[in-house]
Amino acid sequence: MPTKIILPESELPTHWYNIIPDLPTPPSPVLHPATHEPVGPGDFAPLFPMDLILQEVSTERFVEIPEEVREVYRQWRPSPLYRAHGLEKLIGGPARIYYKYEGVSPVGSHKPNTAVPQAYYNAKAGVKKIATETGAGQWGSALAYACSLYDIECEVYQVRASYDTKPYRKAMIEAYGGTIYPSPSNNTEYGRRLLQEDPDTPGSLGIAISEAVEVAATNEDVKYSLGSVLNHVLMHQTVIGEEALKQLAMVDETPDFVIGCSGGGSNFAGLAFPFLREKMAGNINPVVRAVEPAAAPSLTRGTYTYDHGDTAGMIPLVKMHTLGHQFVPDPIHAGGLRYHGMSPLVSLIKEEGLIEAVALQQTETFSKAVQFAKVEGIIPGPEPSHAIAEAMNEAERAKESGEEKVILFNLCGHGHLDMAAYQSYFDGELVDYEYPQDRIDDAMSKVPVVAG
Ligand SMILES: *Cc1c(COP(=O)(O)O)cnc(C)c1O
Repeated sequence: MPTKIILPESELPTHWYNIIPDLPTPPSPVLHPATHEPVGPGDFAPLFPMDLILQEVSTERFVEIPEEVREVYRQWRPSPLYRAHGLEKLIGGPARIYYKYEGVSPVGSHKPNTAVPQAYYNAKAGVKKIATETGAGQWGSALAYACSLYDIECEVYQVRASYDTKPYRKAMIEAYGGTIYPSPSNNTEYGRRLLQEDPDTPGSLGIAISEAVEVAATNEDVKYSLGSVLNHVLMHQTVIGEEALKQLAMVDETPDFVIGCSGGGSNFAGLAFPFLREKMAGNINPVVRAVEPAAAPSLTRGTYTYDHGDTAGMIPLVKMHTLGHQFVPDPIHAGGLRYHGMSPLVSLIKEEGLIEAVALQQTETFSKAVQFAKVEGIIPGPEPSHAIAEAMNEAERAKESGEEKVILFNLCGHGHLDMAAYQSYFDGELVDYEYPQDRIDDAMSKVPVVAG
C-alpha cells in the first residue's frame, strides 16, 4: 500500500521554472525550414499567440503563472507524491521509492498542465480555434478540455493507428466539444497526398503535426498547439518538479535517482528540471535519467543534429536527438512515446552530460506495470510504465549492493483507456521490436544538411 504525501494548496507553485538561463551553453538557434537562416519570434506568429512565443524564447529564470491558470490547476494540483511501500516490499531491498502521480488530472495525465495555459493565452489573444495533433489521444483530450474552458474550438488530428485502436479517447475529445479526424486526413493537402500514395497508412505523430500545422498556417483564424517538445511546454510542466521538491523535503528525503519516461520530453523535464536546477547549484546530486522505448530510441540511438519536428518538413529545424523525420516507429502500445525526435532542451542537457538515458522493450514495461498495479493499486499508462520499470530495475540494483537509495519517478498518467493494450499483453500478443538500424539509416539519409 502506498502512502500519500500531500502538499497544502497554499503551496501551489506561483512560477514556472525556465532552465535556459542555468544551462552551461545556450540552446542552438531555430532555423527556417527552407533558407536554414535563424528564425525570429515574428516567424511563429501565424502559429502561436505572442505570449507563448515570448515564453518559448524567454531567458527569465522564473515565469509567473497567471492567477487564472492557477485557479484551474487547483482542481487537481498540487498532485500527490506517493511513497511506494507496496513496491518496496515486493522488491525487498533497502531502496525507498517515491512517485509523483499526474493521473489525478481530469483527463488522467500531466498534459493539462500545459493545455490549460496554452488555451488561456490563446483566449487572451482572441483566438477562436486551435488545431493540434495527438498520438494515443492524451494530448488531444487535454487540449479539448482546456479549450472547452475558454470557449475555443479544438480540431484534433489523431494518428490513424491510434484512432482505430483507442476509440475511447475520440469519444472523450467529443465529450469536451472537440472535433477529431484520423491522420492522414482529407482535410489537408499533405494528408490527401499521403492517402493517394497509401490509403492504408497507419500515420505517425510527425504526419499528424504536419496536418495540424498546415491547417493553422493556411487559415488566418486558426492557431496551432503542441503538447510536448517545445521550450514553453516543458516550462509549464515544471509545476510537477517544483511540487515534488517540496514534498520530498516534507519527509526529509533527497533523491539519488530522478526518473521519467520520455517521448517528446515534457513530463520528464517537468519533473527533472527543478531537480537539475538544485543539482547544478550543488545542493543535491541525483542521477537524472530519461527512459524511452527501444522501438523509438531517439536519445539513446539517435543523432544530435538539425531536423524537422514534422514529417512534411514544414516546421522550422531544431537541433535535437532524432531518428530522422521520415522515421515511422513500430506500433508499440506506448503511443505517447512513438516520436522520431526529442525536445531540443532535453537533447541539449543529454549532450552536456547532465542526464542519462536508457531504452526498454515493451514486454518488460508491461510485465513491471502489472507487478506495480498489484501492490500500488494504480494501473499505469504504457508510457510511465517505462519509468516504473527503470525505477524497479534501480531498486533491484540497490538490493544487490545493499545501498539505501532514494528513487523518485514520474507516474505521468493512468492507463484506464489503455486496457486493450493490457489485454494484448495478457493474451501473450505483445512483441518486442528490434532496433531497425536499416530503417533509421534510411530515414537519417533524408535529414537536411545544415551548414556550420
Ligand atoms: C503525452 C504523454 C507522454 C509522452 O510525452 P512527453 O512529452 O514525453 O511527456 C507520456 N506519457 C503520457 C501519459 C502522455 O500523455
